[in-house]
Amino acid sequence: METMSTEILQFDALGLAEPLLKAISETGYTTPTPIQAKAIPLALQGLDLMAGAQTGTGKTAAFALPILQKLLPFASSSTSPAKHPIRALVLTPTRELAIQVEESIKVYAKHTPLKSLVVFGGVDIKTQTPHLKTGVEILVATPGRLLDHVEQKTLNLGQVQILVLDEADRMLDMGFMPDLKRILALLPKQRQNLMFSATFSNEIKKLADDFLTNPTLIEVARSNATAENVTQKVYLVEQSKKQALLTQLLQAEDGKQVLVFTKTKITASRLSRALQKVGLAADAIHGDKSQKERMEALDAFKAGKIMVLVATDVAARGLDIDQLPMVINYEIPSAPEDYVHRIGRTGRAGASGVAISLVCEDEEKYLAEIEKLIKRTIDKEKAHVSATARKPSHHAPREHANNEGAVESNRIKHAAKPRQHTRKPSADPWFDKPYEPTVNNADNMQSMSSINRKAPVAALLGGLGIIK
Ligand code: AMP
Repeated sequence: METMSTEILQFDALGLAEPLLKAISETGYTTPTPIQAKAIPLALQGLDLMAGAQTGTGKTAAFALPILQKLLPFASSSTSPAKHPIRALVLTPTRELAIQVEESIKVYAKHTPLKSLVVFGGVDIKTQTPHLKTGVEILVATPGRLLDHVEQKTLNLGQVQILVLDEADRMLDMGFMPDLKRILALLPKQRQNLMFSATFSNEIKKLADDFLTNPTLIEVARSNATAENVTQKVYLVEQSKKQALLTQLLQAEDGKQVLVFTKTKITASRLSRALQKVGLAADAIHGDKSQKERMEALDAFKAGKIMVLVATDVAARGLDIDQLPMVINYEIPSAPEDYVHRIGRTGRAGASGVAISLVCEDEEKYLAEIEKLIKRTIDKEKAHVSATARKPSHHAPREHANNEGAVESNRIKHAAKPRQHTRKPSADPWFDKPYEPTVNNADNMQSMSSINRKAPVAALLGGLGIIK
């Protein structure tokens, strides 16, 4: 088929081997994204890279494909663990991202004998050990759990040839620097380093200076940019009225999936509980929840059973949810880069999206920082909202995610108008209790593959040249 050969040629032009091209084609990718087009040839040359790319730009394949290609000569179908030492190590800040990255690697590696594995904290370490013992060429890990395994001598990093630091900015934000230093000291000096970061702070540049050798800088979009296809809007609202406003906004968006961000775990829990009480299918994910609970909530959201997912920045990092139409910042982040990450959850893969922020007086200083960072002023409107919200009669689960950005804005405006309400929110002592995770039943490796990801074939943000 003619179109097919043109498609393959485009990735083919990057110098990738046949088994990888086959997997790419089967995945439905037709053309390399900008970050892939830039990073793959350089990485294949063995250069160290410092790449500026957000999640959603196709960055995983940008490092996974060259890794696979470079490891192909070492691929062995032998079952002897000695034939499968860890040759590539990918570090990610969160378990969710680690899982997603490793799932992608498995897809790209499916026509090769190369093996990969993901290890992360929050699950019984013993369930990971047998898998490690069989030997894997590519290990994806969160830093803390990797060090646990090193201590338990369940893995050896002495043959690592390629290191990837994925979402390096987030790793620094999360305080992983000491762990990173310990890990890097365990790796052979002679190796290739690929660093990916959505933002370029001075700390990131310092990290690059410390750990990379003459890195080549590649960027697919201006650093700290926000996607143009995301309609951004701020509602100025008193802190005490945020919950009522949020409820109204969500009710007006009936049937649409929304990711809501809070700054703290306790607010995430309380809010999801409050939303449930007014009849919205909501759940929360945050660092205090067990891995099992987080996976279940995420799976339910992906399946459209949950319409509102309330998340903290850490928990939401790396989530790849196709065509999420709306993100709401219940509280805006004090670190402006987090705003860029948060709104990057919507408007992905070329779709349009809406990002709304509820901002109280105390937060206006953070808003100013955000606007400085993204180099644009966000449309603001004073929200008049009553302290209560109506209880909806019915909320239909999602049939198809859609991307009607323009329509959204009008509906949002409408939702923010004052409404008459008679029902007072009931006092619920639950809200005053700290979050208590349910007992974490032995999670096992099975749960890691339980996220079903569709491979979008749409052009990605960078591909359409719509990042400012
Ligand atoms: P990432 O930024 O790596 O998280 O990728 C975001 C999404 O884009 C994932 O769902 C990938 O499967 C998808 N993707 C990656 N590369 C391509 C491509 N060349 N064409 C279409 N989709 C892609």
